[in-house]
Amino acid sequence: MARYTGAVCRLCRREGQKLFLKGERCYTGKCAFTRRSYAPGQHGQGRKKVSEYGMQLRAKQRARRYYGVLEHQFADYFVMATKMKEGKKGENLLAILESRLDNVVYRLGWANSRAEARLLVVHGHFYVNGQRVDIPSYLVKVGDVLSIKEGSRNSVKFKSIMETNGSRPVPKWLEVNNEKFEAKKIALPAREDIDLEVEETLIVELYSK
Ligand code: SF4
Repeated sequence: MARYTGAVCRLCRREGQKLFLKGERCYTGKCAFTRRSYAPGQHGQGRKKVSEYGMQLRAKQRARRYYGVLEHQFADYFVMATKMKEGKKGENLLAILESRLDNVVYRLGWANSRAEARLLVVHGHFYVNGQRVDIPSYLVKVGDVLSIKEGSRNSVKFKSIMETNGSRPVPKWLEVNNEKFEAKKIALPAREDIDLEVEETLIVELYSK
C-alpha cells in the first residue's frame, strides 16, 4: 500500500505542531519541531498570509498526517461521518479516526508511535474478540476486547514497549489491563478526549465545497 516515506519531522514543521510520529524521540530535546518550529524549506521562516482555503487544507492535512491516513481513505471517513445519525460531522470524523485499530493500539501504549502500531498490527500481534486482526484500518467498536497475541507478550520488543509507555495515560474511552495484556473499548471517544489540535469544522467546510 502506498505510504508517505519521506522525513516525518518535516510534516510536524509543515503543520506547525507536534504530530508525535516518531515515538520516544518526540518527547525529548531531539524533537525537530522543538528545535526548529518553523515550516521547512527556503521560505519556511517568512510570514505568509493564509487564505481561507489554505486554512481548511492545513486542518485536513494535519489530521490526515496525525493519523497516518491516505487521502482517499480520509475522504471515505468523512463520507462515513456525514452518514452517522447523531453528532457533528467533524467530531464524528475524529471519533472514526480514533477508532482505527492502529490508533487504539498506540493509545493503549502497546506501540511507541502510530507507525509502529500499524506495523505490529500487520504482523498479526493483536486479537479483537479472540480473532486475529491484521488490518490497521479495522474500526474498533464499543465493547470490543483487544489482546496481545500470547506468543508476543514476553518478547523483548513488547517488554520494552510496555516499559517505555507504562506511564503514558490511556484515554478514558479505553480500559486496559496490562497484566492480562487485554483492553476494552468502553465508549465512543468524545471531542475532549482527543488531543489533536485542529479545528475540525474547517475540514467539514473543505469537504462541503
Ligand atoms: Fe514531530 Fe516527533 Fe519529529 Fe518532533 S520528533 S518533529 S514530534 S515526529
